[in-house]
Amino acid sequence: MTEPEADPLTELRELSVLIRAHVEWLSATGVTGIERGQGAIALPEADEPRPAQRAVGPAATAPAPAPSRPAVVVPAAPVARPAPAVRLEAPERQRRLEVLAETVRGCTRCGLHAARTQTVFARGTGESGLCFVGEGPGADEDAQGFPFVGKAGQLLDKMIAAMGFSRDEVYVCNIVKCRPPNNRKPEPEEMAACMPYLAEQLTVLGPEVIVALGATAVQGLFGTGEGITRLRGRWKLYQGAIPVMPTFHPAFLLRNPAAKKEVWDDLQAVLRQMGRALPARR
Ligand code: URA
Ligand code: SF4
Repeated sequence: MTEPEADPLTELRELSVLIRAHVEWLSATGVTGIERGQGAIALPEADEPRPAQRAVGPAATAPAPAPSRPAVVVPAAPVARPAPAVRLEAPERQRRLEVLAETVRGCTRCGLHAARTQTVFARGTGESGLCFVGEGPGADEDAQGFPFVGKAGQLLDKMIAAMGFSRDEVYVCNIVKCRPPNNRKPEPEEMAACMPYLAEQLTVLGPEVIVALGATAVQGLFGTGEGITRLRGRWKLYQGAIPVMPTFHPAFLLRNPAAKKEVWDDLQAVLRQMGRALPARR
């Protein structure tokens, strides 16, 4: 064998990332014929140690060979992001998002339109490259027309501030744009009906990193039905391109303040991925 060994290995790593992301995307878009079997096969893409074990510093831009691979489940490697997306200029981004928001305003694609006061599209410019995805509007959001403006939203704002971002430079949106009655979880059909809007939002926005708040957000983005306790803290790739950090929903944190520690760990991993300085421990 005369070929150099590094290249095929790198290619294999990248391929495995793309295949996994593709299967996840199939699943998210309703394909049910392929057994996902996550965790059954140890894909070689995940070289990055758990954030807690990693030295603090800017994220690498290419997967580096690991001296030894952790035996347990490892986070999907955000460093494997294939190519930096070319981002639209801010005014064009805002224009396209406003057009999309207008379309959503008239949407009746699922039953949730019937009881809504108004649609809840997004808040923030996303200028920082950071995007949070939640589940769906609650009563406050339905009344005001913006996501995360109630109690959970106030906690989210504290998390954003603790990360060193201003409220406005972070993009915040939800899986479904209309409030589910009695704040129930959106049904799979409702999530499926609404997902094309989120997919388009993310395409236009081109975020550097997405934080998925709670199991429903992860389910909407990836189609996985796993619990958030298993999912959180482990990088996933949205459409093979955008690193996603699943973490607990702020509404859960209001009921379980002890879980804030895990969320802070996850948000620090996000900051490292973005090459941002870690703020001092709160
Ligand atoms: N919870 C969510 O998931 N989204 C909101 O917008 C508000 C609360
Ligand atoms: Fe349309 Fe989404 Fe509202 Fe359903 S939840 S009516 S798909 S905007």
